[in-house]
Amino acid sequence: MIIYGSKAVYIKSEQSKKSICISCGTQGSLTLSVFRRHAHIFWIPLFPIGKKGMSQCQHCKNVLKTKEMPEPIRKEYDILKNKAKGPIWQFTGLGILVVLIAWGSYVNGQDKKLETEYIVSPMDGDIYEYKIETNSYSTLKVTSVSKDSVFVSPNEYEISKKSRIYKINKSENYSEFSYGISKARLKEMYESGEIFDINR
Ligand SMILES: [Zn+2]
Repeated sequence: MIIYGSKAVYIKSEQSKKSICISCGTQGSLTLSVFRRHAHIFWIPLFPIGKKGMSQCQHCKNVLKTKEMPEPIRKEYDILKNKAKGPIWQFTGLGILVVLIAWGSYVNGQDKKLETEYIVSPMDGDIYEYKIETNSYSTLKVTSVSKDSVFVSPNEYEISKKSRIYKINKSENYSEFSYGISKARLKEMYESGEIFDINR
């Protein structure tokens, strides 16, 4: 169950000096108040979604919503509304989202950077996740590295789901023999996406 909705937060009030209460006729008795609404999810504020307001007569306690305000009161209210600033915390959710996106792209970038390093200077024990064909994935384990080649031992199992590939990465699944791939070919396989992940 997702709990979401909106909430209005009080931000500012001002006593009107000129306006006349439409209920009791007293001048200067109206307090104008501004609230800012924000959307929330699981009680975390996401972002502001506009302001609303009211006026209350301190003399007769009559309350008017913005829609009910006569023109002069409404004008005074609009001026107050425009200069009333809401609290920054009403942007909490949006802030979290921006941070998460930035962090995600940073981590992803670091990951790609590392993989590029792994491809250029392979090491014994590196695991390459690669695509055999659509819906068929397997892994190769680096057993030794020479000046221009990498020797890999193929996994004897394959799996149809890319995301489950870790399940077949067990040392007993790798065959006894290994074969060589040139470093240039390896780079090509990585750049074309045939090798889609490297674990060290
Ligand atoms: Zn009044």
